[in-house]
Amino acid sequence: MTLDGAWTRRWVEAVAAEVSRRKAELTALDRAIGDADHGENLDRGFQAVLGKLDALDDGATPAAVLRLVATTLISTVGGAAGPLYGTAFLKASMAAGDRDELDAPALVEVLTAARDGIVARGKAESGDKTMVDAWTPAVEAASAAGDDVRAALAAAAAAAAEGAVATEPLVAHKGRASYLGERAVGHRDPGAESTALILAAAAETT
Ligand code: ADP
Ligand code: MG
Ligand code: MG
Repeated sequence: MTLDGAWTRRWVEAVAAEVSRRKAELTALDRAIGDADHGENLDRGFQAVLGKLDALDDGATPAAVLRLVATTLISTVGGAAGPLYGTAFLKASMAAGDRDELDAPALVEVLTAARDGIVARGKAESGDKTMVDAWTPAVEAASAAGDDVRAALAAAAAAAAEGAVATEPLVAHKGRASYLGERAVGHRDPGAESTALILAAAAETT
């Protein structure tokens, strides 16, 4: 597994396929504690990304692919998740810089930048029942995983999945779910679940 531009492209294609396959499930989570559009929002965005990937050079760097995702999500996905994921991919792109491939320390920098971008934009703290509750454990697990990118991605994906499940008992303090108070308890945060999906796709992309 070499995290070069071609890998980044395959990962983004895998995310698009998984979002499409699990669109109804993501929207069902958002129906319980939001406005029932999270799956559609992300699917619209990642289908638009697929349409633009072909126009990239074969030799595009990871940063170039990440930047294309960022600008496309920002222009096609509304609501909370569009700007938040758009910022995440933009900051990830900036952290990747001009590298042709990401080694484990670079991967940790990229994931950290994505998480920090989401926090800067949305001001959510850990435990607020948002996508941050999947991102932060993922960053920590990747950083603790050592020098193997495959191990780092697997650790990040597993931690994000656990983080998403761990949002279930929480009351929300950011986003639409925060209007529900105690009624949000017992429901998984849709954005935390889509973050787990995005990182699972990374771990499964070879
Ligand atoms: P909207 O709520 O505008 O319909 P989406 O349904 O696409 O947008 O996305 C909702 C998700 O966005 C939530 O499940 C949550 O994870 C995330 N979210 C909302 N507000 C914030 C915030 N301030 N910080 C981090 N994540 C947030
Ligand atoms: Mg919504
Ligand atoms: Mg909405």
